[in-house]
Amino acid sequence: MIQTDILIIGAGPCGLFTVFEAGLLKLRCHLIDSLPQPGGQCSEIYPKKPIFDIPAYPEILAGDLTDKLMEQIAPFKPGFTLGERAEFIEKDDEGQFIVTTNRGTKHRAPIITIAAGLGCFEPRKPPIEKLSNYEDNGVEYIIKDPEFYRGKKVVISGGGDSALDWTVFLANGVAEEVTLVHRRSGFRGHPDSVQKVMDLAEAGKINLVVNCEVVGVDGDGKLESVSVKHKTDGDKVIEADHWVPLFGLSPKLGPIADWNLNINKNSIEVDTLDYQTNVPGIYAIGDINTYPGKLKLILCGFHEATLMVQSAFKRIYPDKNLVLKYTTVNGVNGFE
Ligand SMILES: Cc1cc2nc3c(=O)[nH]c(=O)nc-3n(C[C@H](O)[C@H](O)[C@H](O)COP(=O)(O)OP(=O)(O)OC[C@H]3O[C@@H](n4cnc5c(N)ncnc54)[C@H](O)[C@@H]3O)c2cc1C
Repeated sequence: MIQTDILIIGAGPCGLFTVFEAGLLKLRCHLIDSLPQPGGQCSEIYPKKPIFDIPAYPEILAGDLTDKLMEQIAPFKPGFTLGERAEFIEKDDEGQFIVTTNRGTKHRAPIITIAAGLGCFEPRKPPIEKLSNYEDNGVEYIIKDPEFYRGKKVVISGGGDSALDWTVFLANGVAEEVTLVHRRSGFRGHPDSVQKVMDLAEAGKINLVVNCEVVGVDGDGKLESVSVKHKTDGDKVIEADHWVPLFGLSPKLGPIADWNLNINKNSIEVDTLDYQTNVPGIYAIGDINTYPGKLKLILCGFHEATLMVQSAFKRIYPDKNLVLKYTTVNGVNGFE
């Protein structure tokens, strides 16, 4: 049985930063993540994509942000259960929560913080014949390292931020040829990213194929082309070393949906005082929670983590006085 003060479900940026804020209050943390590495979406979906809205970092790659967070929390010696999914929760006679993973690892803590982001990752796959033959052989659902696409002919499908952002990034001197295929003429992504894509198309730096869908994949052993069907103009074949359908991740809360928490559209309802759920002692922060005015941004999750640990401290030590001290005064005193 792994015992800790705060058991964090999800080692994305918000779960990781919780360790730091909890550590300042001398609370120990342990994290569970179904992925084999920490970092959540930042390391799984877009490690090499720059982020521009982390305070004091005008630009930082998502993977580097994860590394920096790991460095920042190292003094507080968090424990990790990686590659295991938090599955069951129960309470013992002393009022502590017991969380068991799909592999049977048991964790015990008075406080649970759910920082499960989008839930367990599952990319939405298009229903195309023979698709599985080309998976990891030219068809990828996540771009982990853009260098993989250097000098290659890449077709990207999708109309959201991931498709737009990666189109812009790969067209910027990485891939030999980038084609963006979208089934509508309008895009769901950020207007700024849409504009960048339009500018690239106008400058002839990408092929923009709208009102079209990829309907077939072909190649001898590895992907060589995709067939595209236009709503009115019939089909055409596009040469491709890679096809990256970015249709999002199906938002599956997974087992957490059965934890008797108030759920609203796949998100966990919390109050805005301390981001506690309807179950006292269980908090939810980051992309997984919802409240009026919620923004799914990393810095908002950092704020939620900071307030949440103050409340957790008071739950664990109701008789202790908690005084806010600046790190410049107190320093960062890690655990032995
Ligand atoms: C392409 C893209 C670009 C983005 N750009 C920006 C940006 O520029 N700025 C910004 O602020 N935000 C950006 N975001 C959003 C940002 O990545 C999220 O807000 C952030 O990752 C949320 O962090 P989190 O810790 O709440 O959750 P996540 O990063 O989603 O991590 C949650 C973790 O929980 C784990 N998990 C879930 N359920 C379980 C379970 N039952 N058991 C064990 N583990 C579980 C998952 O495996 C995952 O690792 C972007 C997102 C994408 C996809």
